[in-house]
Formats: sequence, C-alpha cells, structure tokens
Amino acid sequence: MSVFDSLIGQDHIVDQLSNAVKVAKGGEDSQAMTHSWLFVGPPGSGRSNAAIAFAAALVCKESGCGKCTDCTTVLSSTHVDVERFNPTGLSIKAEEVRELISRSSWSPSVGGWRIVVIEDADRLTETAANALLKTIEEPESHTVWLLCAPTLTDVPVTIRSRCRHVQLRTPSTASVEEFLLNQTQVDEKTARFASRVSQGHIGRARFIATNIEAQSRRKEIFALPLSLRDIENCFKAAQKLLDLAEDQAEKENSDRDAAELKQLQDAFQGTGRGLISGGAKAIKDLEKEQKSSATRSIRDNIDGALLDLSTFYRDVLVLQSNGAEILNIDLEEEIANYARTTQPKRTIEQIDAILTARANLSRNSAPLATLEALFCALK
Ligand SMILES: [Zn+2]
Repeated sequence: MSVFDSLIGQDHIVDQLSNAVKVAKGGEDSQAMTHSWLFVGPPGSGRSNAAIAFAAALVCKESGCGKCTDCTTVLSSTHVDVERFNPTGLSIKAEEVRELISRSSWSPSVGGWRIVVIEDADRLTETAANALLKTIEEPESHTVWLLCAPTLTDVPVTIRSRCRHVQLRTPSTASVEEFLLNQTQVDEKTARFASRVSQGHIGRARFIATNIEAQSRRKEIFALPLSLRDIENCFKAAQKLLDLAEDQAEKENSDRDAAELKQLQDAFQGTGRGLISGGAKAIKDLEKEQKSSATRSIRDNIDGALLDLSTFYRDVLVLQSNGAEILNIDLEEEIANYARTTQPKRTIEQIDAILTARANLSRNSAPLATLEALFCALK
C-alpha cells in the first residue's frame, strides 16, 4: 500500500513524485527534488490530494506507507510539520501568507521537512503573491511549498516560473467507476451512472453516488432547459437555480458555522457582555469569515449546477451528431426529444453561453444577473 494509490487515474505523476521523495530522503544531489511545487489539474482531478500524498511520502519513514502515524496524520491534516491551508474566502490575503511564511521557517519537529500546502493558490491576491515570491525563490532548506491551482495561468507568472509543475489529468470514467466500487458501498449501476455524469470529477461522483438529495437536485436542474418557453420562465429558471445553490450551501455550512461559533464562545467564556477581552472582535471576525465562506460555497454550487447543465446540451449535441454515448443515461428520452427540436449549430451556441456564464461568475459577476442572461441566451 502506498499513499499514491489514492490518486485516481494519475499514474503518470506517481513516478515523478516517488523519484523526488527518493532523492529528498537520500540527500542525493539531483534535480528530482525541489522546494516549490505547483500541482495543476481540472476541478475534481484530485490536485490537493496529490499534494497531500506527496507531503505524506516526504515525512513518512517508509516514503508514504499510508499506515503509520506520520501518514495518517498528514492525510487527516493534523501532522505538526505539514500545514494545509485551505482558503475559505474568495481570496488569500497577504496577511495570511505572511503568517504561513513565518510558521514555515520553524524547524521540523519529527521528520526532515516542514511542508506547506496551499490549496486554491489561484485565490492569492497580488500582494499575497508578492509576499510569497521571495520565500519561494529562496526557501529555507527544510521547507517545501506545495501550491495547487486549476491551471498554470491561474497563478501569477512570477510564482509559477519558480515552481516545478505537476500536471494532473481528468481521470477516465472507468477509473472513477472503479474508485466508487472500491471506496463506497454503491452498486455497479450507480457507480457507472455517477462516474459518467460527473465527467471525471471524483468528489462529485462520490457525492452523486452516495447522496439521494443530490440526485433529486440534479433532476430539478435538468428540468430547467425544458422549461424555457418564454422570457418569464427564463427569469424563473435563473431564480430557481440560484435557490438550489443557496439551499445546498446553507446545508453545507450551517452545522459547521454553529460549531465554530460555539467553540469560540466557549474559548472566550460566554456571549454578549459576558465575553472576556477580545471575544467580541474574534466573533465578529469569525462571522465575517463565515459570510465570505458562504458566498464562495454558493458560487461553487452554481458552478456545479452549470456543469450539470452543460452535460445536458453536450448530450443533445451527441444525439444530433448521431452519436450514442450520452452521459445522462437516466434522461435519455427527454434529451432525445429535445435534440429533435433544435439544430447542432444552436446547441453549440448554448454550450458556449454556459461557458461564458461560468467564466463571468469566476470573475465575481453578480450571480442572479448572470444566470438571467444565461437562461435568456439558452431559450
Ligand atoms: Zn507512512
């Protein structure tokens, strides 16, 4: 068993990472190991899992056995020498980066390395990226920086030019299916269906396969393109999609938010006037953070829904081009009926409109207005 076994469909990078680990441990003077790495790959390909597996292999005495205390604590984000920074807000601020840098300079407590993993390094603000630059250029001899981002161009050129790149692939449907069968309790039919509709996104595949609510929400999303008879219904569809994304975000966040608040109140011994010094500010900061995190998860959920929607039109196009391999096998009839009502050229425009909406949302456009424009374009 090895920590690298958990990387689905990424055999091509395992050699690269294993070699780096070998060199890092042997103290050999080789280029295989370096201090700054950038893991890039499409959402769901497992780029942060790859970074975490690499971190575990570096601190484990057996180069990533997956079973020892070092491995298991790295994987559960509790290892003292491996810090996993997962931004909950829309951006990573310079102040946060400076704190990471100061902690990264401490000597490792157990192994030979202190490792910082920055998930979503594409969220670094310009000042944050500048703050990081010097450290990445001249890191402490015991520190390793592992940055993760969707593509190379999402990271400022000054940063990416100083990192070794690890490019993940979108895992194949077959490898996602195998993963679901091995790692969850679902049956073959569900695994096959979830791996197809999630298009190589492992997290989504697992979520769809194991979550009844996700399956019913998916049905509501797929009803939207069929409802666009007039402009009024386009506006309704936009609101509906936003509501679905907000509900989902609320479900994801509410329990965690309440637990965090309780923890903080306990730490500051009370609520309101009973709080000890600093408590009110800490709670205000937490509420601000939670709000930013909620905004982000609504956006992530909208993006997920748009991804689903794009598979609908993708399947329409497949049928219009006399192909047979559609993704949404459960909706074959609806999709076939729809495909007969339009032309391939129109379907391509519709797919383009979804891509444009996703790009606009990633640049922080207003969600409802963006969705209204989208559904009007899809009509
Ligand atoms: Zn181990």
